[in-house]
Parts: sequence; structure tokens; C-alpha cells
Amino acid sequence: MARKVLVIGLDGATFRLLGPMMEAGELPELSRLVASGCHGELNSTFPPLTPPAWSAFMTGKNPGKHGVVSFRRAPAGYRTGDFINAKSLRARTLWEIVGETGRTVGAINVVPSYPVRAVNGFMVACMLAPPGAQDIVYPPEYRALLGDDYVISLEPPKQLVATEPDYRVQALDYLGRLRRLGQRRLEVALRLMRERPCDLLAVIFYEPDRVQHFFWKHLTGQRPDGADPAVVEELAAAARAIYRDLDGAVGTLVRESGPDTVTFIVSDHGFAGSPDRFVYVNRWLADRGFLHVHRTWKLRRSVVKRLPSRLRKRYDTLEHVFVNWRRTQAWCDAMETRSGGVWLNVAGRQPHGRVQPGAEYEAVREDIRRGLTELTDGGRPVFKVVARREDIYRGPVTELAPDLLLYANPSHGLRFNGIRPELRARAPFATFAEYGFTGAHEPQGIYVVAGPGIAPLGRQEPRPIEAIAPTILCLLGLPVPDGMDAPPMLEFLTPQARAATPLTYVPDVAPTAAAGDEGYASEEDREQVEARLRALGYVE
Ligand SMILES: [Zn+2]
Repeated sequence: MARKVLVIGLDGATFRLLGPMMEAGELPELSRLVASGCHGELNSTFPPLTPPAWSAFMTGKNPGKHGVVSFRRAPAGYRTGDFINAKSLRARTLWEIVGETGRTVGAINVVPSYPVRAVNGFMVACMLAPPGAQDIVYPPEYRALLGDDYVISLEPPKQLVATEPDYRVQALDYLGRLRRLGQRRLEVALRLMRERPCDLLAVIFYEPDRVQHFFWKHLTGQRPDGADPAVVEELAAAARAIYRDLDGAVGTLVRESGPDTVTFIVSDHGFAGSPDRFVYVNRWLADRGFLHVHRTWKLRRSVVKRLPSRLRKRYDTLEHVFVNWRRTQAWCDAMETRSGGVWLNVAGRQPHGRVQPGAEYEAVREDIRRGLTELTDGGRPVFKVVARREDIYRGPVTELAPDLLLYANPSHGLRFNGIRPELRARAPFATFAEYGFTGAHEPQGIYVVAGPGIAPLGRQEPRPIEAIAPTILCLLGLPVPDGMDAPPMLEFLTPQARAATPLTYVPDVAPTAAAGDEGYASEEDREQVEARLRALGYVE
């Protein structure tokens, strides 16, 4: 019997949380898979963030090859880049590679998968689909299987802060809606599986990430500032119910897939507590003379604020009020709570490029790199990593990434609110406060693999997220494209299964879907996606 593969993605899942829950007997299905197979930490991409990480999962490649670095594309001029979507992928995915061999594939909510593509099976779009969009499934005639009220992703309430008067009600409502989201996702996955059985099926549940951003402290025995202990306990119980549901979904999906299926449980990144301090990198760049703020910004702002609304819209911009681009050498964009990118203002690349490519570019970049590496707050170093993009990424589209990549220590976070609030601030540090977040991403996600031919080896060394795709190809008896960035995890197979699972490589090929027009169909669609990401805290 030909082997099949099931991948259950738990966005943001970490053993820091699942470990104690498994020990307490709350997650019997996951515990059973862990006991019967292999598991360990799955090292995410830089940054440890949903779009680059799930892209690495489905291409087996790092962002220097697959081209998705964050929720945003590289900026056009000085504007923060527009959102990425499935057309931003510069590498072939598992769905294409497996589907072209005649084997069937199903992908549900893998980021980025909007617009959906024709595959040999089915594809349901990800959270980057505009809310309310109807073209969210391939083939389109499967739309009815999703139901009229299918929801891909849920926006949290505006501020989920423990000291707000209606915190308990808002938080319980959000958790209740997230729980129903997961239940509906399972129902739809089962319906699709029965309609079109697949050799490779992946379904992603976003709920762990959403829960952990807001309720990490509640779930780890801590208490957000100002919170009522009874409310914290009540919310933790409501959050744990979501994990028990997901555990049940794991069991249901495994049983539905049948005994000839190998199951992977994977997460795109891990989680930890949120930082207590903000670092305002743009403030630091301005203080050091790399970013030039109009000396008269306060006056400019007050004039612009008094303009009639049509004119205000035109003149209330970063350029007119704050930044003198002609004199600016660099600015910073946050990518996720602890990750950011510094862009240099390069002549020929940016409209008012100030830094000449070559020796000057390298000198400015090195000055900033050294300065941020040495930056301390209260005697503690702020950054764990300050690296040139080519030191992190390998591949032909590395140039889509910021010139310098920053990863803060757990103590510090970057601000999503863009350049303005940082330039208005007096100091480069402040108390961390973002949307009521009590948890933040970290690079160590999870993998669990179990099923026919997988040896019960228990805990294993960490693996890179790029190792999942080549492993899946081997398990399906298919050759691995030689451009993938990690070897398959064949050491997890029993000796017998290993002997029956050859590892062969084939030359890599470029994706057939030409990367080109990456925009949304309408401005309205774009705005709706922006609203969703803003609610999640990813964009200004
Ligand atoms: Zn997240």
C-alpha cells in the first residue's frame, strides 16, 4: 500500500506550553503520537513569523530562495511594502511538486495561499484572503463544501488589556469565537477529505498563535498587570478548552486518514512571554544621525493638522512632517515583536537615495551593525542578532530582504506602529505595551512525526523547518529537488522502512507560476486584508 502523509499545522505551538499540558493528561491524542514516534523543536525562519516560516515548510527553502520575508514585500521607495500573497512565492511548493507526479494534494489555510492555485486536489486560501472573498477554494465548485459562513481567520477585539472594564467579557467572547473557528475548520477538513481523498493533506489551525499572543501569561501561571486572579483563571480554562479541542481534532484527522498515513504535527514558530521594554530603533537611528528628522517637525505637524481634510491627507505624510529623505541614510521596519529590518537609503534603489552602493553602503551598514550590536538598556544588550541579510539568507532573492536584520533579546520588542511614534518619542527605550499582548514569537517551534515506518525514538535534536518538505517527498517515494535547504529526516524511519525508502535528488526547477502582478484585485480587498493584519498587530 502506498504511503500517505497528513500534516497538521498548529500555528505558534510550543512544547513550553504543550509539554506541561501533555504531562497533565490534557492532550491524549498528541501524547499518543509523541509516544509512538519522534519529536523535537523545529527551528523557524528568520524572522520567526507565519508567512516566511510556512513558506519554508512548503518549499523546503529559506526566504533567500522562496522570497517571502514578512507580511510585507520590499518597500517601493520609502512606502512600507504592500502585503505578500501566494504570487510572492519564488519557489515551487509541495502542492506543485507532488501534484505533478499524479499524486493528489490538499492544502487548507497554509500561508500564503491566496489567490488559490490550480492543484491536483484542492486548496483553501489562507488568512491573506480578503474577508468575505468567495474565490477562496480550488476547485471553485468545492465552495459549497465550506459552507456559506466559512471563516478563515478571526480578528481579536481592538485592545484586549486586562485593566479595561469589559476585559473579561471581550476575552471570553474572543476565546469562544476562536474555539468555534477550530471546530468549523475540522468539519470542513473532514468534508474535503471525504470528497477528495489525498496522498498529501495539510491543514493549518491558527488558534494557538492567537490564544498565546493574548493569554500566554494566563496559561503559564502568571498574571497580567492589574488582572483579577479569578478572571485570569477563568480565561485560562477557556483557553485550555481550545487546546483540548485541537487535540481531539488531531485524533479525528489521524483516524480519518487511515493506518497507511504518516502524520506530522508542526508549528511555524514557538512562543514565549512578551518583552517588557520597547526599543525604538528609528529614534536611535535619528539620534546617531542616520535618519534625518525635519528640525521643524512640530510646527509642520501643527500646520498640517489644521489643513482641510483633502489637503491634510496629501500632506500628512512621513516626508512632509517628519523625515528628510534626502539626508537620511537608513530606517527600520518591525517584522514581528522581536524582529526588524534596517533598510539603507541607497542611490538608484530609493527615490532620494543617499548612500552610494559599494564601499559607502558597506561602511554605513557596518556602522549601524556595530552600533546596534553594542546597544544596551540598563546594562543589558538589546539585540541577540544584528546581521547582514546575506549572513542569514542564502539564495537569489536575498535582495528582497532588509539590508540588516535585527533580532532582540527576550527583554526587548520593536514597535509595529511605524516610524512616527518613535520619532515623536524622546528616548530610544520605553515600557513595552502592544495590543494587550502577553506572549511573543520565538524561533523554536515543534515537530512530531508518527505512523507506519516511523521508529518510536522519542525526543530528537532540533531540526530546521526546511527539513519537513524533503522528508515528506521521501515518504511519498518521490525524489527531492536539489535546491531544498535541508536533508530529509530519514533517520526517524525503522531500518525496514529506511531500506524501502530511497533518497534520490533531482535538479531543481523554477516555479511555473510567474511571479509578477502581486497586487490585490481591488483597493477594497487590500484595505480589508490590512484591517485584519492591523487587528492582529502586524501593521500600523
Ligand atoms: Zn503570531
